Amino acid sequence: MSERTTGTGEAPPEAGEAPHIPEAGEAPHYDLAVVGAGVVGALTAYYAVQRDPGRRVAVLAHTGRGSGATRLSAGFDTPTGHNPAQRALAARSTALFHKLAAALGDAGRTPVDVRWLVARAHTAALDATLADGGRTLPVTGEQRDLLDRAFPGLAHGDDEVLLSTDPMTAGQPQWLTDRLLDAVLDGPGNTLLEGFRVTGVRRSGGRVELLAADGSRITADRAVIAPGPWALDGPVAAAARERGARVKKVVAFHIMTPPPPDAPALVLEDADAFLLPHRPGGHWIFSITSPDWDRGPDEPLAIDARDRALARDLLARYVPGFLPHLLGGRVFSDCFTPGHLPVVDTVDGDDVVMAIGGSGSGYRLAPAMAEDALNLLDGRTRT
Ligand SMILES: Cc1cc2nc3c(=O)[nH]c(=O)nc-3n(C[C@H](O)[C@H](O)[C@H](O)COP(=O)(O)OP(=O)(O)OC[C@H]3O[C@@H](n4cnc5c(N)ncnc54)[C@H](O)[C@@H]3O)c2cc1C
Repeated sequence: MSERTTGTGEAPPEAGEAPHIPEAGEAPHYDLAVVGAGVVGALTAYYAVQRDPGRRVAVLAHTGRGSGATRLSAGFDTPTGHNPAQRALAARSTALFHKLAAALGDAGRTPVDVRWLVARAHTAALDATLADGGRTLPVTGEQRDLLDRAFPGLAHGDDEVLLSTDPMTAGQPQWLTDRLLDAVLDGPGNTLLEGFRVTGVRRSGGRVELLAADGSRITADRAVIAPGPWALDGPVAAAARERGARVKKVVAFHIMTPPPPDAPALVLEDADAFLLPHRPGGHWIFSITSPDWDRGPDEPLAIDARDRALARDLLARYVPGFLPHLLGGRVFSDCFTPGHLPVVDTVDGDDVVMAIGGSGSGYRLAPAMAEDALNLLDGRTRT
């Protein structure tokens, strides 16, 4: 499949036919512009083309594909939510992921058994977060044996319990994003414009005009802005700040020892951390909650001594056998919104919608965010 990095929004020229070169001042025009080639932008573009295959879509990315939070995402999908709105988004995203898997043949998602370590007193609160209405159950003897094999030295306090739920999902966010973008680019009128950093959005002659840092521009009937952690440094910065958006460093360590074939994930619920078997990499991912707020994606971000101390403390307490294998990991920034609830809303008019606030869960909530963004633009009621 070819990737078009520049385009006029018109059908590609036949062999031997001279390409259309826009007149000076003439900006390429699209039906829909999607700013952002991460999982939220790619899903938005994909759904737009599914809904209306004739719609010409331009996807814009300020550098290239795979330069955002999606590339480093751990891809763990626990359909949970800390409030009813987040649970509804999670449940809808699960249903949309099933549809995607059916349509694409493979959405890069594998079921993974999940066990939870939580204070006994917080069990009911954990049950209340489950978006599918399910509940946790005490682990069986067999499950406990497997936990002991998978998590060397597994230990917990007398006031804590190990629980199980139905299997959840380990996804591959960048792989899925690439597949979605490829599917969009199969449409002859669609384009991926890389290196197009949108610095401004304005209206001109009933159209939305997207201006780039180098002075170039495109126009579109409508636009979705899905800038991930760049939300505070681009065309929707003011609107995002108004809605309480902030950025934060997100850290997931690697535990460089191979997970047994049937190893479950272990969620350390009260620490907002998890250990996920990462099959493609042949190691574990250990996601922690880094305390570094207001760290944007253009800063030099690194896993630092504070993150490492936090990770070591948790491992020393719960899985000491992993301590020697704690080595490296993935770090990036994500956009967080109040209540960890994504903001999908119009900006200065009905023709521009922003979809921001992955809040460390932007992969698992992306399908519903994308659907809501398009529903707003297409004048449908929010689902
Ligand atoms: C280490 C780590 C682990 C994570 N683990 C999980 C997990 O297990 N489960 C989960 O659900 N979530 C997880 N997340 C969160 C999730 O990955 C993100 O919330 C999600 O990927 C955000 O997707 P996005 O499309 O909004 O942003 P991004 O993937 O960051 O994409 C943003 C896009 O916007 C473009 N862009 C931005 N500004 C402009 C501009 N002005 N002009 C043009 N283009 C622009 C960028 O080029 C990029 O293409 C994790 C995140 C990190 C960092």
